[in-house]
Amino acid sequence: MERFYTDEQRQLRDTVRRYTEQAVMPAAAGIDRDDRFPRELYEGLAGLGLFGIGLPEAAGGSDLGTVSTCIAMEEIARASGTLGNAYALPVEAALFLDAHGSDRHKTFIPGILDGSVLPASAATEPDHGSDVAAMRTTAVRDGDDYVINGTKAWVTFGRIADFIMVFAKTDRDAGHRGISCILVEADRPGVVRGKSEELLGMHGLEDCQVIFDQVRVPVANRIGPENQAFKMAMGNFNFSRLMMSSMALGMAQAAMEDALSYARTRRQFGEEIIRFQAVQFMLADMSTDIAAARLLIHHAARLHDAGHPIAKEAAHAKLFTTDMAMKHASNALQIHGGNGYSREYRIERIFRDLRLAQIYEGTNQIQRLIIARQLEKEST
Ligand SMILES: Cc1cc2nc3c(=O)[nH]c(=O)nc-3n(C[C@H](O)[C@H](O)[C@H](O)COP(=O)(O)OP(=O)(O)OC[C@H]3O[C@@H](n4cnc5c(N)ncnc54)[C@H](O)[C@@H]3O)c2cc1C
Repeated sequence: MERFYTDEQRQLRDTVRRYTEQAVMPAAAGIDRDDRFPRELYEGLAGLGLFGIGLPEAAGGSDLGTVSTCIAMEEIARASGTLGNAYALPVEAALFLDAHGSDRHKTFIPGILDGSVLPASAATEPDHGSDVAAMRTTAVRDGDDYVINGTKAWVTFGRIADFIMVFAKTDRDAGHRGISCILVEADRPGVVRGKSEELLGMHGLEDCQVIFDQVRVPVANRIGPENQAFKMAMGNFNFSRLMMSSMALGMAQAAMEDALSYARTRRQFGEEIIRFQAVQFMLADMSTDIAAARLLIHHAARLHDAGHPIAKEAAHAKLFTTDMAMKHASNALQIHGGNGYSREYRIERIFRDLRLAQIYEGTNQIQRLIIARQLEKEST
């Protein structure tokens, strides 16, 4: 148990753990098998007030800060990668709308917080992922409206979202300085759900392409100033990378717990396999890296709450945590022997779910670029 948590953080962790152990863990294998969005569990998290814990009280949140949000994420993902991933969406959408939205945009926040309104965010396109600035989707002014055309890929909640925050070019020739973010209600004419993505893991997130075919929205739907969305999104990425780090941490924690309990009961050559030093060392390395990752994440989260820039620290946390989590999920699977390769054991799902964490919210190659650029900047 984390001795450096405050009483409030420990209480939060215990509340989330009680709920996830009782309701989420028993359902997690079924969510994976059926590839079904667990709406009732998502609403259960909303019912605990978890979607607004990092949001100021004036915006309907409880203002507990980023560290607490990371603690909640770790606990949820420890029970289900899918639900952890889903948890990031309302948390990030509410913070983004509160920071950059108009009074009208903010009317979406109460529904996001109580789980009745599902948000999505669409920046990636089939041909443009890491190179966000090269996106082709356009939003062209026509009187008091924008007309949006383009195809977005990999939209988490794409099939079920009530609204989508769409990143589109409002100035085609200005690179990253020509991107705006526009709130598009999903029932507007011309919003078409395209092919579903068949994923290795993280089943149940209703991921799909979304096509915008002459979609007309009022200019008032633009979130923040015109052509400034790249900067806004990058600021948001620092926070969302801490969310993804905490998600990977929760899954690594679950992998270690499973490996430990398996090693204590599985017997070979007349003794429990935990007696073999090769197995002990894998467990010891897991425990060390998990503890280090938690400190990296909480350090960056504290800096964020204190108003410091955290581009490098968030990238450190994302890179280290997701790489170490993947490595140790593989070792935890190894400790399970052949059983680790079977769907009967949870480690098989954790191994598949975790792989995503090295890819999205900026691939880990992009995290290294961010860190290197920050180092260069700091040294001049
Ligand atoms: C399950 C899932 C859910 C997602 N949800 C969303 C969502 O809700 N909204 C959304 O907008 N996007 C979403 N994404 C998209 C995700 O953010 C992108 O997949 C990610 O940014 C990588 O882009 P890409 O897949 O186009 O890979 P690419 O950018 O094509 O990269 C391919 C490879 O090249 C490497 N590479 C690229 N550029 C460089 C470079 N300059 N230097 C070194 N290496 C480089 C990458 O690291 C990677 O290994 C999701 C993706 C997945 C898989």
